[in-house]
Amino acid sequence: MISKCLDINTSGHLCIGGVDTIELIHEYGTPLYVMDENLIRENCQSYCQSIDNFYNGKGMIAFASKAFNCKEMCRIAKSEGMGIDVVSIGELYTALSIEFPPEKIIFHGNNKTVEELLLAIEYGVGRIVVDNLTELNMLSNLAKSANKTVRIMLRIKPGVDAHTHDFIRTGQIDSKFGFALETGEAYEAVKVALEKESIELLGLHCHIGSQIFDIEPFSHAADILIQFMGEIKTKLGKELPELNLGGGFGIKYTLDNDPVPYEQYMDILSKTIAVSCAQADVKMPFIILEPGRSIVGGAGITLYTVGGVKEIPNIRTYVSVDGGMTDNPRYALYQSAYTFEVANKADKPKNKLVTIAGKCCESGDILGVNVQLQEVNVGDNIAVLATGAYNYSMASNYNRNLKPAVVMVKDKQPRVVVKRETLQD
Ligand code: PLP
Repeated sequence: MISKCLDINTSGHLCIGGVDTIELIHEYGTPLYVMDENLIRENCQSYCQSIDNFYNGKGMIAFASKAFNCKEMCRIAKSEGMGIDVVSIGELYTALSIEFPPEKIIFHGNNKTVEELLLAIEYGVGRIVVDNLTELNMLSNLAKSANKTVRIMLRIKPGVDAHTHDFIRTGQIDSKFGFALETGEAYEAVKVALEKESIELLGLHCHIGSQIFDIEPFSHAADILIQFMGEIKTKLGKELPELNLGGGFGIKYTLDNDPVPYEQYMDILSKTIAVSCAQADVKMPFIILEPGRSIVGGAGITLYTVGGVKEIPNIRTYVSVDGGMTDNPRYALYQSAYTFEVANKADKPKNKLVTIAGKCCESGDILGVNVQLQEVNVGDNIAVLATGAYNYSMASNYNRNLKPAVVMVKDKQPRVVVKRETLQD
């Protein structure tokens, strides 16, 4: 199994967190998101411990809540002592609504509105990551009017090309996010930020992309930003205390994916940081990492019921499920590969080649093309694995479909953490 929270019981049913998925379906229906809380917490803890083990505890892991934002997940991140990354008023509001400590909130976004910035200023959000000069000016004016000083970081494009899908690469110069280093734009932004009233520049941030398996691009980006911190110190006389290296660590969607154990990132990164800081003659900064996918992705699955099997001779067999791009748009967006199981026949061999289709009025509403699956019939249940990240959070109501419930399993006990939408909703 691609995730350690999954196994198969003696009835041949797929289990998550030790709970039979077919029993979950009887209780809660389909489509259904199911998450294993124990694995989520284990992932949180291994990231947090890696800061203690390899970086003398001088840092913070902030869960990138865009991967899976709901109140219960914010509560989990809070209870694990983590920070949280939010990117809209909705994510910010959700975190604040469960009393997430505002000083541990990091607010991102390339086009924050006045309303969003005002809420962040009012609650004293710990770090606002400023994306562009318009935002910097607006924020400084708003903070001044509110008689407050806001703590910011600047989002920098380090010019690192991460090897991942084009839509999730963000560190290169042709990106809508942040200030470019090679054009001098980033240096100008630092100068402006240091001169602004009501602004305290804490440090620099970059996020080079997502679903990245190599450590090298992260180390490279860290080195580039630290050299830039050295330049800022020499030319502007300011030593920035913080460095936020974003998220992006890859996970196992299929057996071909080979992610690095999370602690290894911090182990190698901390060594790079030490060397780069010595070269740049700056102090080792307080470090922030923002993993999202790698905390929740492998801890979730989505369960469906098959409503139709359509064999087109010599072409393909379509298996239609009762969800699709509305609860998981990632295939439609990036042709993402997944692993599929017939949850009620998970012990049987996968000897069929099928295409899994959703129920939306779009030919592109597909969850997987030419995937290996057990023999499948109408009424069977299909599980898509590793759907804990960017599935619920990217869900839509296209075709007026209702969003599924999210059930969380902890110590073999399931509970609903997000209710299934109703027609009244
Ligand atoms: N931080 C920032 C600024 C991001 O934009 C993202 C993802 O888009 C993340 C963190 C989380 O990335 P991942 O879920 O790949 O770890």
